Amino acid sequence: MTNYYEILEVSQDATKEEIKSAFRKKARTLHPDVNKAPDAEEKFKELGKAYETLMDDNKRATYDRYGEDGLKNAGFDTNGPFAGGFGDLNDIFNSFFGGFGGFGFGGGADPNAPQRGDDLRYDVEIDFKEAIFGTKKEIKFNHLEICPECNGTGAEKGTKPITCPTCHGTGQIQKVTRTPLGAISQITICPDCHGTGQKIGTPCKNCKGYGKIEKEKKIEIKIPAGVDNLSKIRVSGEGDAGSNGGPAGDLFVVLHVKASDYFKRDGIDVYTKIDISPAQAVLGDEIEIETLDGIKAIKIQPGVQSGNTVKIKGAGVPIISRPSQRGDHVIIVNVVIPTQPTEEEKQLYKKLYELKSGKKAQEPSLLHKVKGVFQ
Ligand SMILES: [Zn+2]
Ligand SMILES: [Zn+2]
Repeated sequence: MTNYYEILEVSQDATKEEIKSAFRKKARTLHPDVNKAPDAEEKFKELGKAYETLMDDNKRATYDRYGEDGLKNAGFDTNGPFAGGFGDLNDIFNSFFGGFGGFGFGGGADPNAPQRGDDLRYDVEIDFKEAIFGTKKEIKFNHLEICPECNGTGAEKGTKPITCPTCHGTGQIQKVTRTPLGAISQITICPDCHGTGQKIGTPCKNCKGYGKIEKEKKIEIKIPAGVDNLSKIRVSGEGDAGSNGGPAGDLFVVLHVKASDYFKRDGIDVYTKIDISPAQAVLGDEIEIETLDGIKAIKIQPGVQSGNTVKIKGAGVPIISRPSQRGDHVIIVNVVIPTQPTEEEKQLYKKLYELKSGKKAQEPSLLHKVKGVFQ
């Protein structure tokens, strides 16, 4: 049975401040980067678990009453804060000691290992219909390429990199830092060679020793039918060149689709609105409208209401993965009540009114007084 209070060497009624300070003291000696004893890591994890539990009021109360098993039964994760591995462990340690850069453990990347190049982003604007039917665009962008003169080594042709004099080829230097908590020895990446252990004696003239050069590239990209605003097209290997033989990154072309004044798009469907007169609504009609494929006639059924829709199946946006299939074109009907009818129209509406109500149509100034009918 492990006793969290004993691990931290604090009393049962220790305050959070006392626990914190005890953790600091112990963590400094047990940190696996400082303490090379074979069980240091295990002990450091135990310490973290004890610390995490006692700093959390709920967990501490459960632990005080029922012990470690009680924590498990209560559903608390008893693996401690380091269950995720050394990354977490480093985090908690660094949170106490101000975050030393390059602590040297937790899988810091080997600067000599192959590294993939950066991905790049390129934004391109396309028209509404280009997004729907697809298009081709020529784009011009800059990316890093391996320097052809030195093949990426950064060393002038005929010369070779030399062993770094600062770190003698190890890529690391040890530094002792004084802190309010005492002297801490830390290993950092050699600033002279950035951890590679090697330096370039005579830098390549073409790339100034960087090993890569920026180059403008022109490519044609195919934009498939059915793309939408902010769709991304990945152009494999057109990002920045990698390092140490690593692959190049990718280029992501981000599409910005211009809005249309007429069409509104929702996924694979497009929407348009059509205004019709009350007479068209009552009697029905056949109307020509603009679709994505040109002018088409649609039927308005007699008795259509404002807000009703007419659908042209398959006249919407192609599905990217199955371009032969398309969404629909949905036409929203809007019945417009005339606000300035002609004299002739007025007479016709009066006739309709009289037919429906069985009484004479009156002038508007009087109409509002007829209660209950026009409200
Ligand atoms: Zn070069
Ligand atoms: Zn060095």
